[in-house]
Amino acid sequence: PVSRFPFLPWNVPTEDRSRTAVRDDRFELTYAQLDDRTRAVAAQFARHGVGAGDIVAIMLPNRVELLVAMLAAWRLGAAATPVNPAFTESEASYQISDSGAVLVVNASVDAPDGGRPSIAADDLAGEGDGPEPVALRGDELGLVIYTSGSTGRPKGVMLDHDNAEAMSSTMAQHFRLTAEDHCMLVLPLFHVNAIMVSALAVWRSHGQLSVIGSFSASRFFDHVEKVRPTYFSAVPAIYAMLAALPDTVRPDTSSLRFVVCGAAPVSKELLQRCHDRFGFVMVEGYGLTEATCASACNPVDGVRKLGTVGPALPGQRIAIMSPDGELLAPGETGEVVIAGPTVMRGYLDRPDATAETVRDGWLHTGDIGILDEDGYLRIVDRVKDMIIRGGENIYPKEIETVLTSIDDVLEAAVVGRPDPVLGEVPVAYVVLYPDAATTAEDLLEHCRRHLMRAKVPERIDILEALPKNPVGKIDKPSLRRTLQHA
Ligand code: ATP
Repeated sequence: PVSRFPFLPWNVPTEDRSRTAVRDDRFELTYAQLDDRTRAVAAQFARHGVGAGDIVAIMLPNRVELLVAMLAAWRLGAAATPVNPAFTESEASYQISDSGAVLVVNASVDAPDGGRPSIAADDLAGEGDGPEPVALRGDELGLVIYTSGSTGRPKGVMLDHDNAEAMSSTMAQHFRLTAEDHCMLVLPLFHVNAIMVSALAVWRSHGQLSVIGSFSASRFFDHVEKVRPTYFSAVPAIYAMLAALPDTVRPDTSSLRFVVCGAAPVSKELLQRCHDRFGFVMVEGYGLTEATCASACNPVDGVRKLGTVGPALPGQRIAIMSPDGELLAPGETGEVVIAGPTVMRGYLDRPDATAETVRDGWLHTGDIGILDEDGYLRIVDRVKDMIIRGGENIYPKEIETVLTSIDDVLEAAVVGRPDPVLGEVPVAYVVLYPDAATTAEDLLEHCRRHLMRAKVPERIDILEALPKNPVGKIDKPSLRRTLQHA
């Protein structure tokens, strides 16, 4: 019988069990070995009292053990909550206690454990007997992923196995993944993108996953040339760092069938530059943790529209809603709402926040967008990033788009500076390509030519780099804080 969850190693059919499932710089495991190791680790977890319905916190950098621990939890009918390994003691303790985790898997015994029993990854036994996997139900919790907290205290997004199944199968279909595909893992595994688009999507296709450790722009293409992946998924910040590499870097990217860009706004120019320079077939997608990862994505084969995040993925519905709950027509601007099997079960222990976010089956994203006649979605901005200047709505992204259309500009971020009279006024932060000679005054002049007066930034600061959150998104809250204290 066809397994309901084909991304699980113990559901891989005999003929594919000898294929490589995952590797990092220390391990290389076939599907059979991944299954065995998961079995042994599940036995260890069970000895620590982990059982169905429990949550295991996993605080590890990207490495094979993190994935083994996640699968071991699932084997027992428990869920996993991956914790950012760079968290401070108090950040980690917050997530561990908020999630109610019964056990913490750490890199070392000295790492934060929030007062819970913990296991060091190096102690996870390699082989041995262990429990047979429980028959997982679709509505059982598989993951509790914490939002970055840029909108308040981090909340645990509850995703069940049906969510993971819907997302990983959609990704595998959309990208036409086969056992010949090989994904290079670039993003951190405490984020849905890495788990869904990289690990589960390639596993269900019986392809392989190479874990390369933390991202470094200068070493990135060495990995690509050595691993020879067929795809990877990354965020705009990573593409920006690659695009800024010296011209002498001329990598061999011939193994790559396509690369995915998502999780934050990206300029058309950056996508185009990465395409021209590295030969990448760039597919931009859009999604959020509350929808288990991606909801729209441009196709690999088919019409890719630059400046859009593509059409809704099969099985999901995307609509644009007015503030009074009406579904709007193509071309009209409103809030992006999503329905379908990837919508989260809710926020852990926060029924009010859940009821506010999921209404009548529609997940309210807080993003402002427009659908075109072909159903391609364009993200205009985030509701919370909108600047209101003297009662006039200004979308920072419109100003950022004007700035990134200049050849010398690598990245731009616009935020509102509090103003006693106007409420807020736009201020821009810009990073230039190395060797660029443009000045802030040139940039302002360009804005004046392309934007009405109210939208022209009050000031443009040229920075070496923009602050980024752990997933690599431009950290606008921190830019706003700088302005408040200026
Ligand atoms: P927090 O909720 O803690 O602020 P977050 O919203 O960044 O964190 P995620 O679920 O990682 O958490 O991000 C989802 C958001 O990322 C979307 O709502 C959207 O604003 C943005 N996003 C994702 N992909 C794109 C894209 N291709 N273009 C523009 N924005 C995107």
